Amino acid sequence: MSKLSRRDLFKATLAAGLGVSLPAGALAHGRGHGRDDDDDRDSEALVFVNGRIHTMDERNTVVSSVAMKNGRFVGVGRAAHDMGEARVINLHGRTVVPGLIESHTHFVSLANRPGYHVAEWENANSVADVLAILAARRARGDVPEGAFITAMGAGTPAMFLPVPPETVRRLPFLAELDKAVPDRPVFLYQGGGGPARTNTLGKQFFESATAPLAGPCVVGADGTLAGAINNPPTPSMANRALYHLRIRQTFEDKKRSAIDAMKYSASVGITAVLDQTLVAKATGTLDPASLAPQPTDALFNLDHYRMYDAWLALHADDETLIRLQINFLHNQGVITALGDLDHQLPELRERLKNQFQFFGTDMVRTGAIGEWAAPFGLNPDPNFDPANEVNRAVPDAYGVWRESQILVAKARWRNENAQAGSFPGTATTPNSQAIEQVIRTYEWLDREFGIKDLRWGLQHAQYATVEQLARLKALNCGVSASGFTWLNGVPRADGQPVGPYYPRMVASGVPLALHEDGVHIAPHNPWFAMHYATTGLNVLGQQINAGHQISREQAVRMYTRGASWYLNREDDMGSIESGKFADLVVLDRDYFSVTDAQARGTRAALTVVGGKIVHNTGIA
Ligand SMILES: [Zn+2]
Repeated sequence: MSKLSRRDLFKATLAAGLGVSLPAGALAHGRGHGRDDDDDRDSEALVFVNGRIHTMDERNTVVSSVAMKNGRFVGVGRAAHDMGEARVINLHGRTVVPGLIESHTHFVSLANRPGYHVAEWENANSVADVLAILAARRARGDVPEGAFITAMGAGTPAMFLPVPPETVRRLPFLAELDKAVPDRPVFLYQGGGGPARTNTLGKQFFESATAPLAGPCVVGADGTLAGAINNPPTPSMANRALYHLRIRQTFEDKKRSAIDAMKYSASVGITAVLDQTLVAKATGTLDPASLAPQPTDALFNLDHYRMYDAWLALHADDETLIRLQINFLHNQGVITALGDLDHQLPELRERLKNQFQFFGTDMVRTGAIGEWAAPFGLNPDPNFDPANEVNRAVPDAYGVWRESQILVAKARWRNENAQAGSFPGTATTPNSQAIEQVIRTYEWLDREFGIKDLRWGLQHAQYATVEQLARLKALNCGVSASGFTWLNGVPRADGQPVGPYYPRMVASGVPLALHEDGVHIAPHNPWFAMHYATTGLNVLGQQINAGHQISREQAVRMYTRGASWYLNREDDMGSIESGKFADLVVLDRDYFSVTDAQARGTRAALTVVGGKIVHNTGIA
């Protein structure tokens, strides 16, 4: 990269074969409102030339140049700029897409991980890969003596090819971890609930660790810390070990983890996330003390009131790298001790009274109610009428769920439900009964309160029918489709596709995003979701969704323009157009022309957020 005068730039762009013309008024398109106005780091003008820039505008225009200033795009295509000094980056024909927007993730959990966390392990294909990634983390030389190198969530044995001649997929054992990282403790924690594995130094720590709420852990000779979700009365040693690490985290540790998570996000091309909080512990109390770390907490349990603190501190210092929009998940279902329906849902009621939606800055702001207002409660009667009053004295799961939807509609908040629905097609099982319940309730609430202007959404929606999608469209509701089925999906015995039915969703014209739903049940890496949506192949390479593939362009569109609608930000994000946030990703390969296997391995060569380079592999 070089600093060029306007005249030099003119020559450079001519040399790149570009028509150069930009009226002086073009700068006026850059609205530059908000904090970007007085943010020095964003004021430098950047011009990318000689690229294959897929703008994802209305007509999917592909251009060769784009200019940005003050955090926004100011010239696209046959336009350079008229702003004096500018840095010019020659893309040498590289492919560019808008910054990817993950519309359903639990990313802030990744930003809270204890230890020197290695998010990259989710990209490993084998036990050997995992070990190499851990060794590479140690080789960076910045992990203090005694500090843990950790890798948690997302990684599961199914992702890791065995070590020949073994045939079983698994996590690395203690001896292998010792070999990869002999002089620092290592802790691997599988998925959102364990089990876990450690090395010799880790074993020594966990076998002697004591704290107010838990004593030492039992660690197997192979480094295993047993335990999985919902396994009482046997305490999970994986969760006890996690507790010992969490209570030793300092606030500075949390800030470092948050930055690491943001860097990882930028390296896979994600520039904005819609975080769905966590499946928070749901008791009847709203006492924050009840959310302090417990030895029984799984990885997906965090204090959902305070889990944003480190990120917000970084934001206050202008150090965040990607954009965060925060949805609020409410996990209180029927809690008998709370009594009648008017006393259920205490957290949701307080939230709607005390929180602002869509409030904040360009880099961090609140979102809506998602991924649910209350745990879904199915009405056993498929012919139910949502207008019918429920038993308010002794509420059931459906009654509480229905009440939560009413509260959100009355408060005029945006709202989401996450329902994959049941696999359709049998005579006795009504098609997608859960999805039907959500849509029918939305239709009733629209008649009662009007929700068409609130952009309600449905997450997952694997098996929504053509008719159901049309009804969602009529309500101006959007769908964010799952892309994580590749990880645990297996071929159905009857040969039917496993879903989601992507082409049907695209054809419906409903506002449509695609998501991975990381970082516990699936990785954060969006190229895995796009690979599944475009090939139907699961982690074992088996075809599980035959006949329901979409094009790569459609997949990228769902991750950009489509997702921007989901965040209520399509005026600012989702495409490379003058006036929008200068968020883009230069890819390390031409995603649109390489093989499927190569497309799955796509990474960012360079990532820009708000006109600032936040990830650079050395191409500029
Ligand atoms: Zn989720």
